[in-house]
Amino acid sequence: MAQPTTLLQTAQDIVVSSFTFDMARYLIAASLIAGLVWLLRRTRWASRKIQRREATRADLSREVFAAIRTVIVYTVMAVPMVWAFRHGYLHEYREPIGALAFGGYLMAMVLAHDTWFYWSHRAMHTRPLYRAFHRFHHLTITPTAWTAYSFAIPEAAVMFLFMPVWFALVPTPVPVVFTFLAIMILRNCMGHAGLELHPRGWASHPVLKWISTTTHHDMHHGTSYAHNYGFYFTWWDKLMGTEHPNYVATFDRVTAPATRDQPFTTSAPPQTTA
Ligand SMILES: [Zn+2]
Ligand SMILES: [Zn+2]
Repeated sequence: MAQPTTLLQTAQDIVVSSFTFDMARYLIAASLIAGLVWLLRRTRWASRKIQRREATRADLSREVFAAIRTVIVYTVMAVPMVWAFRHGYLHEYREPIGALAFGGYLMAMVLAHDTWFYWSHRAMHTRPLYRAFHRFHHLTITPTAWTAYSFAIPEAAVMFLFMPVWFALVPTPVPVVFTFLAIMILRNCMGHAGLELHPRGWASHPVLKWISTTTHHDMHHGTSYAHNYGFYFTWWDKLMGTEHPNYVATFDRVTAPATRDQPFTTSAPPQTTA
């Protein structure tokens, strides 16, 4: 039911809760993944560290500062979105749904976001957009879970924009949205974890290879800007010929039950062109 309010009233209603929710989402997911990586680096899985280079303290503070800025962008942009819900321009789906429909909504939302991410990411790698939108994210050569929200303001806006566009097209049950948001931040932190978290054989498995890995996105930061633009899945990269030719070999090398001096991927400064 519509609750007519002004933009200002909407802002007063949601700013604190919205900021807290998004910040908590980032802090919880990044702490979980960073903690897991910290633990694994004290086991035999230490050899799964993808790059020889270590993220620096400067990386970490830049990324956490940027994450706070990103959450502020999300909070500001949530105000007109909630206002649009309250005035009936956007809709959620309020009827009870079964498990099958829940899964269907969730899958559709993840697939749509994957497509949004791939194409907006490729667009942000073009010359006119790169500097303003995406260069900041690529200041990180060696990602960690804390890199997940390391966006310049325009890129954060592009990331958020998926939500109102999706809601304009598909009225979605609220529990589906919250599950999607949880999956999104977890996959984001996993993609930036810096240590491969997926089981051996994943990148060449006939089914699992379609789901992205940590190595996949790590290579986009540390090996080549011109490859591996995808997020949850690899099919856009495979379909468009943008998957790095050494992706599977690198994944297999990183996940091999290797001795301590196994080779790592290069951490040479990547190519800059799309
Ligand atoms: Zn990244
Ligand atoms: Zn990029």
